[in-house]
Parts: sequence; C-alpha cells; structure tokens
Amino acid sequence: MSDLRELYQAVILDHNKRPRNFGTLDEATHEAHGHNPLCGDMIRLQLSLDDADVVQGIAFDGEGCAISKASASVMTETLKGRDRTDAEALFQRFHDLVTGKGGDTDALGKLAVFAGVSEFPIRVKCATLAWHTLRAALADATTPVSTE
Ligand code: ZN
Repeated sequence: MSDLRELYQAVILDHNKRPRNFGTLDEATHEAHGHNPLCGDMIRLQLSLDDADVVQGIAFDGEGCAISKASASVMTETLKGRDRTDAEALFQRFHDLVTGKGGDTDALGKLAVFAGVSEFPIRVKCATLAWHTLRAALADATTPVSTE
C-alpha cells in the first residue's frame, strides 16, 4: 500500500508542477468558473463539445492548491474523447472515491490517485472543485460554482 501511496503522490506532484491542458481554448462551447472559499482555489474551465457531445477540447486555468490543480489536470486529461454521459458517470465515481464511499477504482484509471483524499475531509472540496465546475459548464450555468 505504501508503494502505491508514493506512486499516487508522485502523480499528483507531477500534475501540480506541470498541469496538462492549462490555459484557454480558442473556441469553447461551454465554460464555467468555480471557487472553493475554504481553501481559496479558483478555476475557469472551458470545453469544446462536438455535435455528438464528445469532448474535443478542454482547458482550465486559475489559482489553487496542489490538490485542486492536479485534480483539474488529471480530469481534463481523462475527459478528452469522452462524451457527456461518461463525464457524468465519472463525476459520480470520483465523488464516491474521494468521499470514501469506495466504488470501482478500475473504472477510474488515473483518477484513482486521489483515493487518499478521503482521509482528509478538508481536501475533498479541493479535489472535487474541477468536477463541480465541469458539471456547471455542461449545464451552461451562468453563475459561478462555489463549494460552500
Ligand atoms: Zn485547495
């Protein structure tokens, strides 16, 4: 378990240091802002969906702690090429994982690195901020998301 934990930590540190899909899209079909006042994490998420609701482009920027940034980075990497239904299913699985409800970690792929977050309840909002923002973007929400 400790080897696994070290691996997880390494992935999170790497994504914090070199976030994937960090920046903005030229043409976004969906966009939302998210804020986690508890920690101060801010995110803007942009998506570009095609006619079949498949994620063709995704990007985020903002300021936040290592967990929030790494979570957004791994999320964007995971969602490319997935459709809206997959995204919703992953949101649920990820939420179950970080809130300690367990679930199917195999289906989560790299997202499973955030399993340890469930031991730190205060970090759950950091890890899920990007996902709540994703949901808002897909719903075309016009008001920013807050985890509070
Ligand atoms: Zn945070």
